[in-house]
Amino acid sequence: MPGGTDQTLRPFLWRAERMYPDTEIVSRTHEGVERYTYEEYGDRTAQLAGAMDATGVPEGERVATFCWNHHRHFETYFAIPTTGRQLHTINPLLPDEHIQYIVQNADDRIIFLDPSLAEKLSGAYDEAAFEAVEQFVVMGSEVPDVRFDAVDYESFIDGHDTSYDWPTVDEETPAGMCYTSGTTGKPKGVEYTQKMLWSHTMATMGPQGLDISDDDVVMPVVPMFHVNAWGMPFTSTAAGAKHVYPGPSPDPADIAGLIEDEEVTVTAGVPTVWLGLQEYIQAGNDVDLSSLESVIIGGSAAPRAMIEWFDDRGVTVDHAWGMTEMSPIGSVSRLKSGLAEDLSYEEQVDKRAKQGLMVPGVEFKVIDDDGEEVPWNGEDFGELHIRGPWITTEYFKRPEANEEDFEESEGGRWLKTGDVVTVDEDGYIKIVDRAKDVIKSGGEWISSVELENAIMAHDDVTEAAVVGVPHERWQERPVAFVVPAEGTDPGELEAEVTEMLGEEYPKWWLPDDLVQIDEVPKTATGKFSKKDLREEYADEALLEGQVPEEAAPDDD
Ligand code: AMP
Repeated sequence: MPGGTDQTLRPFLWRAERMYPDTEIVSRTHEGVERYTYEEYGDRTAQLAGAMDATGVPEGERVATFCWNHHRHFETYFAIPTTGRQLHTINPLLPDEHIQYIVQNADDRIIFLDPSLAEKLSGAYDEAAFEAVEQFVVMGSEVPDVRFDAVDYESFIDGHDTSYDWPTVDEETPAGMCYTSGTTGKPKGVEYTQKMLWSHTMATMGPQGLDISDDDVVMPVVPMFHVNAWGMPFTSTAAGAKHVYPGPSPDPADIAGLIEDEEVTVTAGVPTVWLGLQEYIQAGNDVDLSSLESVIIGGSAAPRAMIEWFDDRGVTVDHAWGMTEMSPIGSVSRLKSGLAEDLSYEEQVDKRAKQGLMVPGVEFKVIDDDGEEVPWNGEDFGELHIRGPWITTEYFKRPEANEEDFEESEGGRWLKTGDVVTVDEDGYIKIVDRAKDVIKSGGEWISSVELENAIMAHDDVTEAAVVGVPHERWQERPVAFVVPAEGTDPGELEAEVTEMLGEEYPKWWLPDDLVQIDEVPKTATGKFSKKDLREEYADEALLEGQVPEEAAPDDD
């Protein structure tokens, strides 16, 4: 017999409002730190639902956000999907052209935007690309100067009823959407159905996931435009936990202050964020981390030294791996029961620095170059293939990407992750390489292929290859290898190329170095061999990477 209701987000909202009416939601915004309860959250979410109805944009349509982490953004998290619309979170750090493509591709009908991002969206605004957008709503009580008509959020929801008759929504209805930057071509849309978000919430709430309960105070520093802040706003609501949102571009002092003042127990973000906090504390700032139980680190590999640093302060690092395509949590690296007794501290950290164990619900296999599954011996490696209830089985309107990135085999459809891994005897995966040609800097993707094409568009460049080099703060940074056309003045080329790229791409995309070489090494089939390129220039100091401070994605 089928169950009584579908697997949707509505019951999570219902439960938090009814069972935890006094639990707080705290939010740092451009107007200061604001706080209210789930009860008030429920009222405002209902008002927002009514306000969206009043625009005439019906169920089934996409509604976008262009926002940092705060309470108003969180209100959209339930109001949009629970009315049967689709929450599309746009990454504001992307180049303008990508933003235009995404808004057009998704046919967004309403866009909620932050005042601090108004200038960025206004710059990216293009009448044709934004044709479907009927309403812009600025997250605050005022409207800054922008190139489109907009209303402020408080006026938008004002006067609407604080209760709402939430409809019955089918579990297969698309509830969320996020674009991921691929190796080539434009970003690829991933849709999350109600059921995917429901199952991701249920699995990651448990102790083998993110382990969130009603006595937790949860602060996602990972942006809410990155795969729903790793699902944490949903998970925390389902658990009845207190939420803390760190607002626009939080710096280490903001993060430290909120941890102390709100007694945060669980927080989450990419390694760059925690390196910033580490440096802030090491610079002599006294920060009380005693409330903190767990820091979830993902998006890029958590460095060993970071795990140990937090251990020394009584905080556990839960190292997580995931992807936009998987809502996004796949694995978490915790010690299996019994393992701690058998391993030295060093060995325990070795395990925890791996990407870890798949959370219950996700299956994987590792396929080598010959198409064979590799044994679980911690040495043989291959591409990680995954499947599970919250893993997408297709990209939005991208048939060619569906062909490439999924594998149909007996028993189902697997996502080919592009991550090259080993698996040890205990089932812990470890990422050893990346098959996709992209660079991840501070948790944000840079397409090396796109940069190469842009550089090769310069008249004085015959070939260009861009590779990611390891970097302590940003994990990776791009470096360009360029073959100049004959007779080119090498002194001028670098400045010209950098200026040209700067017109099209945000500052944090620009290569840290432009090395002029005679030829880009090629594979047998004539493609650029980045592997050989790296080997050839391995001794160069630049491959250790150094990047100026201002290259931060947040600074853009
Ligand atoms: P995204 O879709 O932007 O979330 O990026 C997903 C990709 O980020 C993965 O396929 C990995 O290449 C990388 N990634 C995510 N988490 C980790 C991690 N803990 N360690 C290493 N790489 C990671």
